[in-house]
Amino acid sequence: MQKHILIVEDEPAIRDMLAFALRKGDFVPICAADGRQAQECIAERVPDLILLDWMLPGSSGLELARRWRRDATSRAIPIIMLTARGEENDRVGGLEAGVDDYVVKPFSARELLARIRAVLRRSREDDEDGSVQVGALRIDGAAHRVFADEAGTAQPIPMGPTEYRLLHFFMTHPERVYTRTQLLDHVWGGSVYVEERTVDVHIRRLRKTLEPHRLDAMVQTVRGAGYRFSTAV
Ligand code: CA
Repeated sequence: MQKHILIVEDEPAIRDMLAFALRKGDFVPICAADGRQAQECIAERVPDLILLDWMLPGSSGLELARRWRRDATSRAIPIIMLTARGEENDRVGGLEAGVDDYVVKPFSARELLARIRAVLRRSREDDEDGSVQVGALRIDGAAHRVFADEAGTAQPIPMGPTEYRLLHFFMTHPERVYTRTQLLDHVWGGSVYVEERTVDVHIRRLRKTLEPHRLDAMVQTVRGAGYRFSTAV
């Protein structure tokens, strides 16, 4: 089945170029010029992925990413941010806001399609993964949801797709230390485009989502080595 990709870009020339590239890559592009239009598109049909421009009139790409990550309908949609060269801090900010990957303008259609496929492949693998329980944390693989067992009741823990994947990897490989490079290989599929500090950003976000349930200490930093997921807090 063809994947629907929502393009949120205010410049018509770039929007058309993206739509053309996506069609050639066997995707179905849906175009929106701003956040309001994008919201309407999502309400009509939840896309498989969102290509989100950073600089938009009205709400910025960053604000939209944050909003979509909070909303139950859009929380699990992978987002790839389009940024201009040299917006290094913006990119980290984007990852913090829940963006899964970013491409720097100008980019080739080939690079864009490679990234889209990598992000979609990762979210598909999540769906196929089974359920797992470690301590008070439980992942329902079929429902794609995380729960904390608190006083006999299951409290849902909402999180973005990258944090979900990272947590799933940790929970299926507990009590072992992984370097950033190893985590990139296992969780991001060794994408050549992702930098090591991306791991740190997502570790930080994962801890933040676990914090209200007092489970953040399970994600441990091992000085000079990497990270470990452990029930021995
Ligand atoms: Ca723009």
